Amino acid sequence: MSRIINNTNANANAPPNCHIEFLQQFTVKEHARLDRPEVWTAEEHAFHRELLYTTKSNLPDHAPETRINLAILSKKWKRYCTEKLKTEDQKLAIKNIDCETLKDFITFICLNYNNKSQGSIFHYIRGFQQLYRLASGEYMNRNDSEEVYRYYRTQLAPRFGHRPPNTNGKPVLNVDTLRVLLTFNIAYDNGGLGLGRLRLQLTACYQLLCYTGVRPGELVDAQRKMPTDGSFEELFDSEAIQSANNNDVMDKVSIKVNQLLLQEPVNRDRPKALCYEDILFTIVRHPVTQQVAPAMAIKFVNHKGADKRPKPTIFFFTPTKKLIFDVVLTIAALALADKAFAAESITDALSLFQKRPWGTRDCIALRWKPEMLKIPVFRRTRDSALSANEAMLYSTLNTEMGQQSLDTGHEQKLTPRSSRRGAGNAANGDAPDTVRDQMMRHDPKFATFFNAYLNEFAKFDLQNAFLEEEKQVQLFRMFAHASLTRDPRASRNMVPKEVWENTPPDPDIVKLEMERDALKQGHYRIEGCANEKRIRQLGNDIRLMRAQRDRRIVKGWHEYYFQHRPTWDLDAQARGEVEEHFREPEMHTTIFERAELARILCLQPDDWTGEELLQHRIKVVHLMVAYCDKKEPRKIIKARPEAQASRSGGKGLKFIAASEPKLITASKSKLITSSEPALNLFPMLMKTTQCPDCIGDDKMPLMERTFEFCRDTVRNDHWEDRHLTGRERAEQRGEPIICKHPACGDRKFKHLDHFRAHVKSDHGVALRSHEQVLRRRLKKAKHREMVVRTRHRN
Ligand SMILES: [Zn+2]
Ligand SMILES: [Zn+2]
Repeated sequence: MSRIINNTNANANAPPNCHIEFLQQFTVKEHARLDRPEVWTAEEHAFHRELLYTTKSNLPDHAPETRINLAILSKKWKRYCTEKLKTEDQKLAIKNIDCETLKDFITFICLNYNNKSQGSIFHYIRGFQQLYRLASGEYMNRNDSEEVYRYYRTQLAPRFGHRPPNTNGKPVLNVDTLRVLLTFNIAYDNGGLGLGRLRLQLTACYQLLCYTGVRPGELVDAQRKMPTDGSFEELFDSEAIQSANNNDVMDKVSIKVNQLLLQEPVNRDRPKALCYEDILFTIVRHPVTQQVAPAMAIKFVNHKGADKRPKPTIFFFTPTKKLIFDVVLTIAALALADKAFAAESITDALSLFQKRPWGTRDCIALRWKPEMLKIPVFRRTRDSALSANEAMLYSTLNTEMGQQSLDTGHEQKLTPRSSRRGAGNAANGDAPDTVRDQMMRHDPKFATFFNAYLNEFAKFDLQNAFLEEEKQVQLFRMFAHASLTRDPRASRNMVPKEVWENTPPDPDIVKLEMERDALKQGHYRIEGCANEKRIRQLGNDIRLMRAQRDRRIVKGWHEYYFQHRPTWDLDAQARGEVEEHFREPEMHTTIFERAELARILCLQPDDWTGEELLQHRIKVVHLMVAYCDKKEPRKIIKARPEAQASRSGGKGLKFIAASEPKLITASKSKLITSSEPALNLFPMLMKTTQCPDCIGDDKMPLMERTFEFCRDTVRNDHWEDRHLTGRERAEQRGEPIICKHPACGDRKFKHLDHFRAHVKSDHGVALRSHEQVLRRRLKKAKHREMVVRTRHRN
């Protein structure tokens, strides 16, 4: 074989030792290639066929998501079997099921579980058909299932008041709403998210959801949790081909066949969420203006049905004029914070924006470090710490989006699906239908877009088209979207004091409270008394039901407000009153980086020059990277709403409103930004109600670090719940225990007890001893055991 020596400068700039690295990788691949299984002989194939005869199964190949759904349904079926059919053999029961039992089971579901829509019951019936097929190997009788559907639709649905599909309204999000959400998220939201990074992840999710219309499962972890009671294994474990060597002698033939069949299947080795390997980050040169800018292509691979038929779609993103909409900046900042770029010279925003393609090429790719490829971009946080490899949860995205949309005065809660609808409807009519369906991952032959996503507001001025008058394009753009009914004065929770004070007690809760009082017989301590278990259970139930009721009131008032506010306003106009002045809420100020970001992103003037834009892009990324690991103030612990309304402050919590700490005035705001705060703010001798760990955490805002709890015990509970486990782990690993108090200058201790002694003698804060901690943990575990988690219907 002749070797071609390349004489051009193709390999210029390659580091001197790259050939070693290449050869190592090449050898690994070579070995993998040689590692193919041996071909089978005729006997071995015969054995294989025999094996297949004995484990013959015509079971359907369900996607993982479907399997989890079925396992959850089978849990309900199991409960029905034990409680109502009085049988333990649920498999047999499902095989012998008749139409009447299935009708009864569906009624059981309606009675015992909290469903409100017909769609979810249809889902159960479909699921049950699949379960039946799993158990019996046959399809369910068509007449039977039709009969069940009919029974549900005509008898059960009206009786339980389940709403028919498509009646709940389908808000469609447009650019106005996106702008409001992004602005609120960065500038006004006072709900503590724990970590700055989480807020930026939300920003990026909102942007990507709107610009691509992807389902949230392609960005974050939306997989349902596997049931832990074994129902999943019961259903699906028998499917795998079992080793046939139980009674046979393991001869040479079977060994070879088993080797292949019983091998662990190669699993997808990455989380189902957007990972770095899906993103191609580039610096491109504009073909006309010759300007150089970062751009990005994202390949979405986790779409619905991807397990059976992968069909990735690639979207491109370019810099936007309004920086608040720029997803390239947000992703660049997250990547910089993760130190994910392979090029070592890309360390910060400035170095990233200085990169440019060389020579005549139009683009240069910025690769990721190999170890970052399978790491999700959006990750979850625990106790204000970012996880190294777990993807952010769908529930986080959904909850925050819902809350923020209500807090920005939208009439309906917006979900990731609203932005998917918004994206689809933006493409509809503008892009050809094939391209629209490609982006939505719809099969054109099912007309899914028309059935499920088309805006229910007809976005066409037919009246004026018929009248052959000029069409009201501007008005129609406004009519069709969720932002039409937005009322900036509204927020999620705006229940007036009078409502909280005068709400009649919930009879269900009162009943439970009376039972508890009777059991307690006026004692305060219930430890060890005969009815302890029941009392704890009642306490737990009462707490849950109260919270649920409060939520119902909040939601009810929100609806009431949107229904009546226009009339109130009209009547006020008629009385000749002047419109009340709408006070802009104040922007966030506690964390310097966030405040700066809010200022740049939300107050961007229209007349920046190209150079100014570039400088601000760099500044935004720079600030975002710094903001990533800043801890946000804890959410203000909500006292009971009644107490809140009457301003009694509940249980003496001295939480200062996270929004506007008085201490930080313009002149003092520098204090927070400097990494070395003046020492006298943190005197050696602390207040006994301050936390010795929080005080040394320079990622937290000042107010939080010096926060005083109401009592020493509460501070102790906080320290044990929040910091102790981490410190114990450090002790186990043999790492030194560090006192981070600014006045101590990272003093190191060998054992936790030394640290405790130091905190007591030098800082004046008494932490609980190891024994006391153990006792508290034991007690907590015991109490938890006593309380059975019950599902409450509301
Ligand atoms: Zn603390
Ligand atoms: Zn110390």
